[in-house]
Amino acid sequence: MESHSSPAVVLRWRAYGESDKIVTFLTRDFGKITGIGKGARNSRRRFPNSLELLARVKVHFRQKQEASLAFLESAELLGPDTSAMSPERLAYGAYMAELAEQMTVEWNPVIETYQLLEEAMVSLEGGPATASLLRAYELKLLDRVGFGPPLERCTRCETPLSRSEESFFAAAQGALWCGRCGSGEDGLVAIQGRLVERLRGLREWSLERCRSEPLTTDRDQAARITGQLLALHLVRPLKSLRTIEQLSRDRG
Ligand SMILES: [Zn+2]
Repeated sequence: MESHSSPAVVLRWRAYGESDKIVTFLTRDFGKITGIGKGARNSRRRFPNSLELLARVKVHFRQKQEASLAFLESAELLGPDTSAMSPERLAYGAYMAELAEQMTVEWNPVIETYQLLEEAMVSLEGGPATASLLRAYELKLLDRVGFGPPLERCTRCETPLSRSEESFFAAAQGALWCGRCGSGEDGLVAIQGRLVERLRGLREWSLERCRSEPLTTDRDQAARITGQLLALHLVRPLKSLRTIEQLSRDRG
């Protein structure tokens, strides 16, 4: 059996038997993989806190082509110390990891998707998950996996969408229509040109720049739009949202 190594982020794990863990990673070089870490809950040498959710690691594993589970040999922890992260950051990190988990496939490496997740995890280690950081991550992820909505032109007539005019968001199609195509149509949501321009920015800018430019008055509408875009492509409900809702209820 050939041995492989790759930088990776832990997307989820579950206990298996007395001392094993079954862990799903997004790896840079192999796409998503799931493997079993024998004795992982006891071995600090081979797995020094490196199979925790959101851990950035270098994972070493073997896999028979026909076998569904990889055999995890070891994983070096590159960061972070998740025990030092606030519940909010962990919850939003789990949300970003769960989105990546749903939007990627096994053994199909897409380096841009891996880099986005890694950059997001590093960003979360440095500061809180702001609305603009989350929306940027969602738009970039949709874009990397090929589901990004066209934000430059009307999907119907291809007229460029301008900052000075209102556009319309067609949630069912995940598309933007210009004022002319959208006016009078049922079930569309009017959005300001300013917000369309901001969504383009969030898709293009670095995550750090996005974080430094808050969404202010467009915050709720931006969240609704990306939420509806994601909903078109998610295969099952997001478990991490329950934790996030619970945290915001607790905060009052
Ligand atoms: Zn149009």
